[in-house]
Amino acid sequence: MLTVKNLEVVYNDVILVLRGVSLSVPEGQIVALLGANGAGKTTLLRALSGLLDIHDGEITKGEVRLRDQPIHTFDAPKIVAAGLGQVLEGRRVFSEFTVEENLRVGGHTRRGGLAEGIEEVYELFPVLKERRKNTAGYLSGGEQQMLAMGRALVAQPEILLLDEPSLGLAPRIVAQIKDIIVQINERGTTVLLVEQNATMALSIAQHGYVMEHGKVVMDKPAAELLDDEDIRDFYLGRG
Ligand code: ATP
Repeated sequence: MLTVKNLEVVYNDVILVLRGVSLSVPEGQIVALLGANGAGKTTLLRALSGLLDIHDGEITKGEVRLRDQPIHTFDAPKIVAAGLGQVLEGRRVFSEFTVEENLRVGGHTRRGGLAEGIEEVYELFPVLKERRKNTAGYLSGGEQQMLAMGRALVAQPEILLLDEPSLGLAPRIVAQIKDIIVQINERGTTVLLVEQNATMALSIAQHGYVMEHGKVVMDKPAAELLDDEDIRDFYLGRG
């Protein structure tokens, strides 16, 4: 579904942050991407989503293909239209807008069936339906994460990139988010999940990658990574 080959990213023309990253996300799977702070995970997601330029970043080598279509030269709206959706770090919702207005914005690239798309999101997140007329800025952190995910889903992505959806949320809410990611995947959306919470991510992923200093240093089935002592020592304590 998504293939990244030998990707290099530079910020401000000088700082090399991704040093030849290759990975693939097969159709129908959940793939976890782990790594310490600063390893380059967010940078990779920005590169995949066409959002590097607003951070003064640039792809200097390599390619990204979505179903064999090279998308690394596309701008962000074209990448969404090609079927790649993302939920950015920090779950940015339009805080002055209502829940429903946020979902409408998410669906602007949809060719029709907006009301139906929003209903599907409400099925997945009943709490958003209850809060449909509320201003997004007043939602709890967990609800804002759900809204950010819902907004991406209204566009009907084939693959969804999630940047640390569990960050700063209480364990009970993390468990809910985890179940929802599984449901989204079961409904046919492929998922690339960036997480610090390795236990959560690896427990639902089929495959995992670990990044360090802008490179992939491990690439294994999720179950093997869960059994790996180094991974356990480094990440699972925080789970
Ligand atoms: P985190 O979990 O903290 O988000 P990460 O693995 O997602 O970490 P990135 O945010 O991709 O890592 O950052 C990778 C490196 O790129 C860091 O050294 C960071 O300081 C640098 N970096 C990120 N954004 C920029 C930018 N706009 N300009 C210059 N350097 C940047």
